[in-house]
Amino acid sequence: MWFNNILETIGNTPLIKLNKITKELPCTVLAKVEYFNPGNSIKDRMAVKMLEEAEKAGKIKPGGTIIEGTSGNTGMGLALAAVIKGYKCIFATTDKQSKEKADILKAVGAEVIVCPTNVDPEDPRSYYSVAKRLTKEIPNSFHMNQYDNLANRQAHYENTGPELWEQTEGKITHLVIATGTGGTITGTGQYLKEKNKDIKVWAIDVYGSLLKKYFETGEVDMKQVHPYITEGIGEDFVPANYDMSVIDHFEQVTDKEGAVMARRISREEGIFVGYSSGTALQGLMQLKHELKKNDLVVVIFSDHGSRYVGKVYNDQWMMERGFFDVKTFKDIVNTRV
Ligand code: PMP
Repeated sequence: MWFNNILETIGNTPLIKLNKITKELPCTVLAKVEYFNPGNSIKDRMAVKMLEEAEKAGKIKPGGTIIEGTSGNTGMGLALAAVIKGYKCIFATTDKQSKEKADILKAVGAEVIVCPTNVDPEDPRSYYSVAKRLTKEIPNSFHMNQYDNLANRQAHYENTGPELWEQTEGKITHLVIATGTGGTITGTGQYLKEKNKDIKVWAIDVYGSLLKKYFETGEVDMKQVHPYITEGIGEDFVPANYDMSVIDHFEQVTDKEGAVMARRISREEGIFVGYSSGTALQGLMQLKHELKKNDLVVVIFSDHGSRYVGKVYNDQWMMERGFFDVKTFKDIVNTRV
């Protein structure tokens, strides 16, 4: 038995029970560990789907150029698909993202253009504007636009949702996802709610993002927006992939608590996750009073810790940002203080 190429290994990631951090919760918590995908993140799923849909619609032909504004994980999925299917890739990313992510993308053949983080999306220097401009300039190129391309949420409706339903034998009661473009939460949540409308879908956001306020009031409130450190989640606009009616609650987490929780997951559960996985589990812990004995909670761990070795997994980086107080430092790090 073998796979015909690396893309066939995407999906069917394991569900793994958390045993220590969640001990104080009354119910079972399972992590869907998405770093088992070949690009080490959940975004492989939608990257291939976006490319297939673009091909079907005749928007791009082999030999052409895939263009995307990506923080890295979507880029990795697209880059792998490009290698197998014969495309070039150009990614516009921001200077907030870890250098490791850009290096990994280059390793699989992509060109990476680093753009400033703290400019308006409409500013010509923003990664969003750069991606749009390159698409105009380069023939046989296509801007995937993971934010507004609905193939993103469709991938999760067709794959992630059915996988979770089958893996839990329909017993899942809560779905917890740290959310960015909204593709994962909308697609997965919609599928599961069609199976059982009582399943609760909880979105975890980061302070500095306007998504929670938008969910609660329908207002795009730029006063919510301030720079934050957590990568891959939160937005300063509302991408088209959101269907907010699928979501039951939005919870916000600080940069610090998400980072410390990522460290704890690695240290206490042996699952070496990325930053947003810490955010997702921290959000769930903040909602523990909502849970009951027979609940079966699934929390998505979106990517792998190797991309954050210079950041969340670097003690100096954590201390410089005040993310380690003496107690958490002692608990997490094998160093005498
Ligand atoms: N975590 C990480 C590390 C990500 O890269 C992303 C994708 N932006 C997400 C979470 C959020 O997933 P989605 O974009 O589907 O909301």
